[in-house]
Amino acid sequence: MKPPPHRITACRRCHAPIVWCLTSANGRRQPVDAEPSEEGNVAVSSGADGILYVRTVTAARPDIKPGEWQAMPHHATCAFPPPRRSSSGGQRSTSGVRPVPWQR
Ligand SMILES: [Zn+2]
Repeated sequence: MKPPPHRITACRRCHAPIVWCLTSANGRRQPVDAEPSEEGNVAVSSGADGILYVRTVTAARPDIKPGEWQAMPHHATCAFPPPRRSSSGGQRSTSGVRPVPWQR
């Protein structure tokens, strides 16, 4: 599976192709790389309403179901990520995808 072409847009920071999804956990908007990736830790599916939903692939739910595709959250690959508040000594957290708001 791949994202529907008409859903693909460009990241306003790095102009990479992305799709906007809603997290199945809490309904927040999250950008995901448009190109599926086997390295990705999220699974995207297209809802009956045409909205794309994203969920984190966890050890408890590692299987990619029919109709889903595996992808990388865009904030993991963005060439121009938003500035971080802590400027020094901040260790990057690698404990999964945080549902941070991406807009504005
Ligand atoms: Zn970007």
